[in-house]
Amino acid sequence: MSNATHEAAAAALANSPTHHALPSYLQADNLGPWGIYLQQVDRVIPYLGHLARWAETLKRPKRALVVDVPIQLDNGTVAHFEGYRVQHNTSRGPGKGGVRFHQDVTLSEVMALSAWMSIKNAAVNVPYGGAKGGIRVDPKTLSMGELERMTRRYTSEIGIIIGPTKDIPAPDVNTNEQIMAWMMDTYSMNEGATATGVVTGKPVDLGGSLGRREATGRGVFTVGAEAANHIGLDISKARVAVQGFGNVGGIAGKLFAEAGARIVAVQDHGGTIYREAGIDVPALMTYVSRNGSVKGFVGAEVVSDDSFWDVECDILIPAALEGQITAANAGRIKARMVIEGANGPTTPAADDILHDRNILVLPDVIANAGGVTVSYFEWVQDFSSFFWSEDEINARLVRIMKEAFAGVWQISQDYKVSLRTATFIIACKRILHARELRGLYP
Ligand code: GLU
Repeated sequence: MSNATHEAAAAALANSPTHHALPSYLQADNLGPWGIYLQQVDRVIPYLGHLARWAETLKRPKRALVVDVPIQLDNGTVAHFEGYRVQHNTSRGPGKGGVRFHQDVTLSEVMALSAWMSIKNAAVNVPYGGAKGGIRVDPKTLSMGELERMTRRYTSEIGIIIGPTKDIPAPDVNTNEQIMAWMMDTYSMNEGATATGVVTGKPVDLGGSLGRREATGRGVFTVGAEAANHIGLDISKARVAVQGFGNVGGIAGKLFAEAGARIVAVQDHGGTIYREAGIDVPALMTYVSRNGSVKGFVGAEVVSDDSFWDVECDILIPAALEGQITAANAGRIKARMVIEGANGPTTPAADDILHDRNILVLPDVIANAGGVTVSYFEWVQDFSSFFWSEDEINARLVRIMKEAFAGVWQISQDYKVSLRTATFIIACKRILHARELRGLYP
């Protein structure tokens, strides 16, 4: 996105009836996740035509719930945690999005993550709005029993706004199939009937879907391979650097390695490792699943965390947390392509630097949409109580991801905008068109 268009977006905003001064978040790099999201929306307003009339809808979450989550700890004392569930938009269907457990979770972050879910779900055209939840907690400090009690109490507290046709949680950072099983059970107990469709990302034996665990990483790989074709990058010769080696980065790394790429660097909360000849990905996956991080893995050299941004590579996959690629390190990145496995890893200022340096950014709202796409398949399977084969699921996932990517690529060419702005244009138009058709109540 050029600065000129950015300025046009800012001017359009400044002239809109509800904004009289240029908001400060349009200048700073330190915006916070919600500020970043608002800036991303502002950038697409000039492309929305008559639907721009409804754009303010996108700047306000429909509903935000903050809950107290008290639990008894194993030592007999009581601890209180703060939990959130935000439904950003439900114009296109029920709220949908994950729940994260992390010590840095804030309401502003959950608001942004819920909004990115609205955009993502519209971008791949699954019939959902956007929602997200979280608890501010470091789950590593809890025993299994404490984790279960916290998950159940949180589910009960947000039970008034979730449900299979209202808002459907799923896994996100530090949450998994077991936590979804507890959420499903708690909601079902309160309802008096088993409601498998209240969450996705459940264990397969409880109405979960085959292929869901790998879906986000598979989607990252699928759109990465499509984009590589467009820019003439041969994946079988590509060098890949991955930040975050969990469900997303690990699976994406594995699929790239299977396609012949070399995974030269991996960074996670335990440190950064490098091997020019390529890291043995299956060995690293086994190691990380046993030890919790890459720390201590002997099959690669340990390097400083900061040097990760200088690694000679063709593809960089940030697959950890928000705000990782900033104006401070975007100028150092050597990759030709960044695939955002994480939500919100690149600040708008960094986005502009990468764009000016001709580094293609595949934005989160399309690149990591594979997870929620298979969540949608899981929800459909739960409703019909008829389950599909893994091959069927993967084939449908790849088809949806390729179609969505092709549409985004086309818009980016037509309007000469970044893939992020192109994705936002498609998604915001879908959301606001639905909003317009439904009309205002009353
Ligand atoms: N937490 C994932 C995401 O950010 C998946 C959400 C879902 O499946 O509902 O896309």
